[in-house]
Amino acid sequence: MKKDIRSLNLKELCSFFESNDFPSFRGNQVYNWLWNKSVFSFDEMTNISLQLRDLLKKEFVINHIKIDNIQKSKDGTIKNAVKLFDDLLVESVLIPVKNRTTACISSQVGCSLDCEFCATSKLKRIRNLNADEIFDQASTINLQSKHYYNRPISNIVFMGMGEPLLNYKNLILGIEKITSKDGLGLSPKRITVSTSGISKLIIKMADSQVKFNLAVSLHSAIEETRNKIMPFSVKFPLDELLNAIKYWNKKTGKIVTYEYIVWKEINDDLRHINALVKYCKASPSKVNLIQYNKTANSLFVSAEDNIIDKYIYELEKNRIPVTIRKSRGKDIDAACGQLANKLINQ
Ligand code: SAH
Repeated sequence: MKKDIRSLNLKELCSFFESNDFPSFRGNQVYNWLWNKSVFSFDEMTNISLQLRDLLKKEFVINHIKIDNIQKSKDGTIKNAVKLFDDLLVESVLIPVKNRTTACISSQVGCSLDCEFCATSKLKRIRNLNADEIFDQASTINLQSKHYYNRPISNIVFMGMGEPLLNYKNLILGIEKITSKDGLGLSPKRITVSTSGISKLIIKMADSQVKFNLAVSLHSAIEETRNKIMPFSVKFPLDELLNAIKYWNKKTGKIVTYEYIVWKEINDDLRHINALVKYCKASPSKVNLIQYNKTANSLFVSAEDNIIDKYIYELEKNRIPVTIRKSRGKDIDAACGQLANKLINQ
């Protein structure tokens, strides 16, 4: 199998040209086509001679993602079905917010975790995305944002399909590309990685002094409930998770955001509210209350507004910042937890 040329760094690319008796600056040119211009084929590299393009074609491939289908929501959200080189599909979403654009991108094909309320978990994990596939989603949505909204993307959230921390190496490499000058040059402060709470990998990130933000999908600060709705979390107890989050805060100075959905008869009582307040007070944090988006699992129903208000009231009383995340793109199944490749099954 031919190697993907984008797995080479600039130095490796330049030495490839030198060893084939071409000047090394050709490496810079090709690198620029690959990363700044994000081209899909060698034929688009118009300042490179045909002879050189043939050599590249003989040696390498460019496994660029392709947009298989685009759906637009009436609220302006755009969902992309993204085809990978091996014909697998993931989804990525462009979310316009006032005068900004957030890109929601996937990290895995399917997901190995088993959150009962999430449509993606029903797909099972097929494979990790490589760093280029992560980068391509961001750069594609960046182009779409320029095209449809006249502005580049301002933020990226890893809240698409998959568990980003279980694809650790490619996640970090992908973010490096996204933030580097050769890539999109986006500040890491504008990137948020959302995890279901893999404690040991939160510690690893803290040790690497990463500069992006961390969100943890908590949904309950009571072990028994959390284990029921997110069965894998039996392996990652809440106190261990909290220790990892404290460590993250100490090492990076950053405040974690807890993502939290309130469901009828699951976590809509005072016991759960008090447990969340206590958990939040143990380490600096913010809470993002997420509107539940219906999936096939009928056991999960959004709680009444007055319960959500009670959550907000108690959190604010305890000086814990709380925001509400409105659903976007619901009419095209592009909202959180709805990404499940409906297209494949049609
Ligand atoms: N695996 C990671 C990232 C993907 S999920 C994580 O769990 O954080 C992104 C966010 O969407 C998570 O907070 C997740 O809990 C939430 N989510 C999952 N299903 C949802 C649904 N049906 N409605 C609303 N949010 C959902």
